[in-house]
Amino acid sequence: MKTWLDIDKDSDFSIYNIPFGIFSHGDSGLRLGTRVGDHVVDLHALAAAGLFDKLGIGKEVFSNSSLNNFIALGKSKTNGVRTAIQAALQDESSDLKNLTTAFIKASDVQMHMPVEVKDYTDFYSSIDHATNVGMMFRDKDNALLPNWKHLPVGYHGRASSIIPSGTNIHRPKGQMKPTDSDPVYGPCRLLDFELEMAFVVGKQTKIGQSISTADAMDHIFGMVLFNDWSARDIQKWEYIPLGPFLAKSFASSISPWVVTMEALEFAKVQGQKQEPAVLPYLQYEGPHNFDIKLDVGLTSQDGQETIICGSNFKYMYWNMSQQLAHHTSNGCNVNIGDMMASGTISGPEAGMFGCMLELSWAGSKTIQLKGGEERKFIADYDTITMYGHAEKDGKRVGFGEVRTQVLPAL
Ligand code: MN
Repeated sequence: MKTWLDIDKDSDFSIYNIPFGIFSHGDSGLRLGTRVGDHVVDLHALAAAGLFDKLGIGKEVFSNSSLNNFIALGKSKTNGVRTAIQAALQDESSDLKNLTTAFIKASDVQMHMPVEVKDYTDFYSSIDHATNVGMMFRDKDNALLPNWKHLPVGYHGRASSIIPSGTNIHRPKGQMKPTDSDPVYGPCRLLDFELEMAFVVGKQTKIGQSISTADAMDHIFGMVLFNDWSARDIQKWEYIPLGPFLAKSFASSISPWVVTMEALEFAKVQGQKQEPAVLPYLQYEGPHNFDIKLDVGLTSQDGQETIICGSNFKYMYWNMSQQLAHHTSNGCNVNIGDMMASGTISGPEAGMFGCMLELSWAGSKTIQLKGGEERKFIADYDTITMYGHAEKDGKRVGFGEVRTQVLPAL
């Protein structure tokens, strides 16, 4: 696809992407936008100019404070908007060329939460991550618990503390149990990130209804990068027997642009063979994994960024279709805007580990930073940035970044 707009060839936001998000510019109020190259495009302005008239979509939905109502229009309309924008960007005689106020420099806008998240679930679907953590806390032969290869393990997380990129967090406080003393309360000492991706549910179900793996993709609107902040010392003490609680609920950071499943279609790849065979409701056909390259940078207070991890979403053992099928297999209903995160995405090699817990092997190794500093876990004023993109045959579709600085405990 050739466009009259100047887009860098290495941009995550090529004409093949056309993601959706919520932005404000000056005192404009919240608007739906898309991102093309270094520009945010005001979809309310495009709708007002009649670009979506043929789709029968009024301009009102484009000044909502979240994407939820837009997503509710259904994929034929939302992808219709995406393809109408792509067509206009290719058309040398498009009226859009004169609509200069609709194109705003990305550095001049404020990005907001793209969706209203009513419920958030976090899975644990990377076999390399689950094996590494099992080896650290149990032993090599029993690294994976007996259920792990039979169902996508997950827990219900906290939706209220999901925040967009650029929002700083304070080091969480909590109860911890040092090995040689009674429990204490204070700032967490072992703060960690988790490199994850999350999908946004695009179609509501009724209570009692289950989604099959074959239908699951119809129920997924798109994806974001997801940093599932974790306080390892709080987690270690609190998680038995009901799983993660306050060690996880203080914050999760997401990238602000929701990349649609249509834009990611070209990145589909076959997942690894699942042995033993899974139960029929979890079986699937065709490729359901996605080749999305992921990187994590740690920027210390001196301003230097070190890439400390490079992984890929294709390594997931359980895919999103299986996660959604399992999630609804008991009749639990899902809503538009619900977010379901993958779990830490580690790969098979040491440089591919998706959290500090694995990178420092539970604090037994140091991670070397460019400026000469070392880390085992995250220090105050460190900034964690996650990047992700798919690339194939000259097409690049990416997520931009999710960036968060850690400030001292309040
Ligand atoms: Mn997680």
